[in-house]
Amino acid sequence: MPTFEYAPAPESRELANLRTSYQMFVDGKFVDGAGKPLKSVNPATEEVLAEVATASPDDVDLAVRAARRAYDRVWGRMPGAERGKYLFRIARLIQERSRELAVLESLDNGKPIKESRDTDVPTAAAHFFHHAGWADKLDYAGYGPEPRPLGVAAQVIPWNFPLLMLAWKIAPALACGNTVVLKPAETTPLTALVFADICRQAELPPGVVNILPGAGDVGAALVSHPDVDKVAFTGSTDVGKEITRTLAGTGRRLTLELGGKAANIVFDDAPLDQAVEGIVNGIFFNQGHVCCAGSRLLVQESVAEELLARLRTRIATLRVGDPLDKNTDVGAINSREQLNKIIELSDAGDAEGAQRWTSPCPLPERGLFFAPTVFSEVQQSMRIAKEEIFGPVLSVLTFRTPDEAITKANNTPYGLSAGVWTEKGSRILWAAQRLRAGVVWANTFNRFDPTAPFGGYRESGFGREGGRAGLEAYLDV
Ligand code: NDP
Repeated sequence: MPTFEYAPAPESRELANLRTSYQMFVDGKFVDGAGKPLKSVNPATEEVLAEVATASPDDVDLAVRAARRAYDRVWGRMPGAERGKYLFRIARLIQERSRELAVLESLDNGKPIKESRDTDVPTAAAHFFHHAGWADKLDYAGYGPEPRPLGVAAQVIPWNFPLLMLAWKIAPALACGNTVVLKPAETTPLTALVFADICRQAELPPGVVNILPGAGDVGAALVSHPDVDKVAFTGSTDVGKEITRTLAGTGRRLTLELGGKAANIVFDDAPLDQAVEGIVNGIFFNQGHVCCAGSRLLVQESVAEELLARLRTRIATLRVGDPLDKNTDVGAINSREQLNKIIELSDAGDAEGAQRWTSPCPLPERGLFFAPTVFSEVQQSMRIAKEEIFGPVLSVLTFRTPDEAITKANNTPYGLSAGVWTEKGSRILWAAQRLRAGVVWANTFNRFDPTAPFGGYRESGFGREGGRAGLEAYLDV
């Protein structure tokens, strides 16, 4: 395959309007928190980007009170058509400030600019547009006439899609008439604070949205606050279990979007080149920091050798490096902690006897990077087949019959997503009915749309986000 030299094509860092310090957003105002400020780091260089104020337990209480006041006095009573106007305004402001948000997201998270620019930010805007349309049509959503909101929603989100997860959480909550206190992840708080500025620009009534940066203790204080009516969490299964224990018996509503170990199944009649693109997208999109990543490739034995050869050739062309370069395919790993976890699990793959192949791509000399990696000869008992690596590491298993494929695919405590590659429509439907996964993609992978409900089974959590089904999580039905 010919190789092409690329000239650097960096997006300008100036577009991010990066400031040296950021404040929390409570009751419509930017304020200092009483917590110890955190430093947000650019994972591509390990330089400090900005200092960010964090919340103390008293600040959590102030924010929940502000959200309660806004719910009781303004937002919970406002007609849906009026709420919808605010959501439309927010969606348009996200579009207007899309370059700023994309560059800031890539700086803070490490994801390639082409992903933040073409996926994260436009999909975040789409979630607000979609839910703006629902705000005055809730009577027709199938939950009975005049469905009521729940009240104050406490929302805790992870670092892999900072702005997009915020949109998944805040847009349906506001559309249904709830107010929100949201905690972004400790390592990626910046776009949430620009979003707070967008709420201010949109003249959203004070207290409807509150953003509290901080570490896990702020999340824990928020979800256990007695005046919160609903908790929505996306993150690790361990923290999800802890939150479930905290909320047990309180009667408060909870939805959890947790981890995954998705099977991407390639049958022998699949269009192989198309499947290769889907596999690459499934595991290397966003450095593999994706809860629904296709991290287990199940390939039919008769085509395994050919598919793996084509896959390695394709992966070797992926460009790993500066997230702000428009040519970059795989960016930086979000934190040293996450990089260490990826290294540890990959080493476990070696120790347990899997065959490691690493892309020969050059890596930047500094920053947190991990070359795209494929393990073949993986057995179901190995840690790399069972545990969520959350990095650019693919585990390849083989199967002989369709039944074996389904059994292996479902042999996981998770159940978030799956992929099926085959020419036969009947086989797609057959497989989709048997796969215990909230989302099954057919001849594609990692497709997200605000109209499509997303969520898991078993240790991947419960509740749905997006579409009509996602409204239920924010309505008293
Ligand atoms: P966490 O579940 O710890 O973090 C998710 C969010 O929850 C963050 O905002 C975090 O704050 C917050 N949090 C942490 N502890 C608590 C608590 N006790 N109560 C309430 N909120 C809390 O995930 P990590 O970022 O630590 O990642 C660990 C692993 O989890 C990853 O390696 C990956 O396997 C998996 N993961 C899965 C995700 C998914 O979408 N399914 C997303 C992220 C991670 P803080 O940022 O300060 O830790």
